[in-house]
Amino acid sequence: MAKKVAFFGLGNMGGPMAANLVKAGFQVSAFDLMPASVEKAVADGCSAAANEKDAVAGADFVVSMLPNGAIAENLYIDDVGLLDLVEPGALLIDCSTVAAASSRRIGEEATKRKVRVIDAPVSGGVAGAEAGTLAFMCGGEATDVEAAKEILQHMGANIFHAGPSGAGQVAKACNNMLLAVHMIGTAEALQLGVDNGLDPKTLSEIMLKSSGCNWSLEKYNPYPGVMEGVPASRDYSGGFMVKLMQKDLGLAMEAALASKSATPMGALANNLYGLYAGSDESNVDLDFSSIQRFFK
Ligand code: NAD
Repeated sequence: MAKKVAFFGLGNMGGPMAANLVKAGFQVSAFDLMPASVEKAVADGCSAAANEKDAVAGADFVVSMLPNGAIAENLYIDDVGLLDLVEPGALLIDCSTVAAASSRRIGEEATKRKVRVIDAPVSGGVAGAEAGTLAFMCGGEATDVEAAKEILQHMGANIFHAGPSGAGQVAKACNNMLLAVHMIGTAEALQLGVDNGLDPKTLSEIMLKSSGCNWSLEKYNPYPGVMEGVPASRDYSGGFMVKLMQKDLGLAMEAALASKSATPMGALANNLYGLYAGSDESNVDLDFSSIQRFFK
């Protein structure tokens, strides 16, 4: 008999992730507060759960893809209390991007109840969720991360065990802080070249073969007209929105404060994205490479 997955949060990311589990032969019971998200999930082959308790009844796995940590903590502990509703032996996987402290709290409360839970935030965006090529950064017991691969492999191409509970969130915060820093640096360098008479394409080719080469330049050039198929070539629509980068930078700053780490580059990136977002309210919905416009 097909194994059952209870899926919470079927938005831009969760929707296609759940659809991939259906394609892989799992029976997916979907729960979301927005009727439109549930309808879409049902069209993709999920069944609609009447409530949270109904969703987890008989479920081998629970997956959540929620907007923030307060919502995740309410669902797992404070409000709904999924940790007290799940089947014995079920494996819970929170894929939401939240503060490491939130994931650790959910992990500690789960341990008290002998429930298995891991944090597994993702990288790869909506395109990766649709294609089933996400990278999962997992925090928790090694045996639980290993067991989670039974379903994560159908939603992602790379599954990493970062360390104990919360470590997946720390890995994600570090990665996205670095992404913001090299995107801003790339945009700054390209504009400096253009302001001094260089063609951005030529400059990009030079830096790609020189020590300034980095992922933003290689895969996601922020200067319009240099690279095809990236947000910069379609007025920065689609891709990874500025508001999501701001959320992740906020989580990185929170982690830095908690561990008393010096993150001057991350703090500056956070500040620049804040200034850029504040300069025009529509900027928050553009792809994060649109920070290029800040340097015009
Ligand atoms: P979204 O807003 O499109 O989807 C979130 C869904 O959760 C919504 O359908 C909402 O109704 C539902 N929800 C809220 N509270 C709920 C509850 N209590 N019970 C059940 N459902 C509930 O957001 P998204 O873009 O899918 O992002 C989800 C998570 O993935 C976030 O933590 C985000 O940071 C992370 N993420 C997003 C991207 C991206 O490119 N969108 C990339 C990587 C990670």
